[in-house]
Amino acid sequence: MRKPIIAGNWKMNKNPKETVEFVAGLKGKLPSFKDVESVIAAPAVDLQALLDAAKGTDLKVAAENAYFENEGAFTGETSPKVLSEMGVDYVVIGHSERREYFGETDDDINKKAHAVFNNGMVPIICCGETLEQRQAGEAESWVEGQVSAALRGLSVEQVSLAVIAYEPIWAIGTGETATSDQAQEICAVVRRTVAKLYDQTVADKVRIQYGGSVKPGNVVELMGKDDIDGGLVGGASMEPASYLDLVNFKA
Ligand code: PGA
Repeated sequence: MRKPIIAGNWKMNKNPKETVEFVAGLKGKLPSFKDVESVIAAPAVDLQALLDAAKGTDLKVAAENAYFENEGAFTGETSPKVLSEMGVDYVVIGHSERREYFGETDDDINKKAHAVFNNGMVPIICCGETLEQRQAGEAESWVEGQVSAALRGLSVEQVSLAVIAYEPIWAIGTGETATSDQAQEICAVVRRTVAKLYDQTVADKVRIQYGGSVKPGNVVELMGKDDIDGGLVGGASMEPASYLDLVNFKA
């Protein structure tokens, strides 16, 4: 049985004060960590505030990015070692916005996956096709390629813990959600890819999220699909009420 994992992705929004207010708005209303993992991925500048506010709650904390080196002359980058020391649980890597605007390659993302695991955290590895790729019938092969590249060299134990987020780029921030069948179809491709690279036991353990205009009105249907174990949610994770509706999708 895979435990559902719903992660908010705030992107470059909110300051530390707003972060603390958000967590105050969740008080006593999060599902038990035993049933559903509730995660917020926040900007690096908000992480300390988020960690402090989340202490003693069932909320887990994710960074939205990290570099693949632990320290050194890398001006402006965020150390995965320090994120781990701070108490961060997850790191989102390879989000399509990082790939598109900051030139991240599959190779960078693979190095980041290793760095995150080597520092005792778990990566949420993003993949997903553009509208042109979907229309050209290339969605499956593209996502298979991204997943294979991201996982290269990771151990069975590591991949068993990993979270992979399938986010079709055409559905991110557009209000256009993939249908639950479209989402399921590619999430199944992700799981088959892991089975091919490792084995079925590992593939059965990996948690796969769908992302792209997930909201309270569609989360239940999406989460009902066999290969969808969670969501990576931007817009609908910004306010406590909406976020709580998502993480309490079972209630
Ligand atoms: P969205 O963003 O929910 O606003 O579409 C999802 C994401 O980019 O992770």
